[in-house]
Amino acid sequence: MMKSIKNKKTISESTILVTGGTGYIGSHTVVALIAAGFNPVIVDNLSNSKASVLDRIKKITGKRPPFYKLDMRNRAALNKVFQKHQIASVIHFAGLKAVGESVAEPLRYYENNIQSTITLCNVMAKHGVKKIIFSSSASVYGQASGIPIREDSAPAPTNPYARSKWIIEQILQDVYIADPGWRMVLLRYFNPVGAHESGQMGEDPRGIPNNLMPYISQVAVGRRNKINVFGNDYPTSDGTGVRDYIHVMDLAEGHIAALKKMEKKTLWKSKQNPIIINLGTGRGYTVMEIIQAFSKASGKKIPYRITKRRPGDIAACYADITLAGKLLGWKAKRSLLDMCADAWRWQSRNPQGYP
Ligand code: NAD
Ligand code: UDP
Repeated sequence: MMKSIKNKKTISESTILVTGGTGYIGSHTVVALIAAGFNPVIVDNLSNSKASVLDRIKKITGKRPPFYKLDMRNRAALNKVFQKHQIASVIHFAGLKAVGESVAEPLRYYENNIQSTITLCNVMAKHGVKKIIFSSSASVYGQASGIPIREDSAPAPTNPYARSKWIIEQILQDVYIADPGWRMVLLRYFNPVGAHESGQMGEDPRGIPNNLMPYISQVAVGRRNKINVFGNDYPTSDGTGVRDYIHVMDLAEGHIAALKKMEKKTLWKSKQNPIIINLGTGRGYTVMEIIQAFSKASGKKIPYRITKRRPGDIAACYADITLAGKLLGWKAKRSLLDMCADAWRWQSRNPQGYP
């Protein structure tokens, strides 16, 4: 009896490699992993994040996960991490993500995002690690033919960033065809926003934020004068763009649900592999609704100005979340007000972001 208990490998003993783990979504997922009893190991080249996030993870969870500063394309360095740790599964967040930058520097985006994934899969296969969760994006859908967007909607990425995600999805599909021993979950995120409720961790973009929520936060905290609203002549309730904003901790918990389900045979039975799942809330909000909600949560006036549409933007985008509920038993719990209140707690306590 004693022996079987001792030998039984439980989830709490599972070591999970988190690539891009010092980044925005990665760091929040690391906190959720520790809370769920997993042992995360982080790799990141710190090209878009700071090592000081590790102090915050320690502050929140009491644990400092092992961290390796390395580039995902460095096969030898990555191999050493797999030699050192008994890795059960990988969550692959590492990648470049700025749409505008990807249009200006497509080769850098393709090289970084695609080569990183190829190197990772090679090293995983070498060590017999064949379970991966990949960070894909709703941007692979482009202008979808219908909303809410279902996972079987035809991909039509409109920029190099989104195309890099779509190409990686297809590479993973081919890797699976060659070796059906792989277990792959490709998560297509909608618009992750918000911060850890402690106010210790949040989004810390470099330079001028490209995305709506971090820009609004910086207006509220006084770092910027006003938010430009990109167009109010869309066919939406108030004319401004509609997106499916999801709290980053809900998103993080979606990964935990996927990780747990990956262990279960039922998930893979007669299912196409890789499994592709949308992570969103299933409901959309306009830009004006976000500004109002943030103003309410922060108690600050958010000055704005209507400007022309941003090239390449679509009117409305939100997820069909049926599959996430069915396959993962997961659903986002936090409200728009939670997203704004938590983003504000982080921004107001850390006006300049991480030290
Ligand atoms: P982030 O930039 O905060 O995190 C990504 C991390 O990857 C960074 O810490 C960066 O330093 C690291 N990185 C990049 N290239 C690397 C390389 N070659 N080697 C090692 N580390 C590398 O971004 P995020 O918002 O946390 O996004 C995480 C993932 O989710 C990305 O793949 C992104 O494309 C995807 N995603 C993000 C969003 C979003 O709106 N934030 C939406 C959909 C999908
Ligand atoms: N947006 C805006 N002003 C900004 C940034 C974004 O009006 O400074 C709008 C944008 O046109 C879109 C929504 O906010 O309708 C969300 O934009 P974001 O870049 O955050 O996400 P994405 O468009 O990539 O889904």
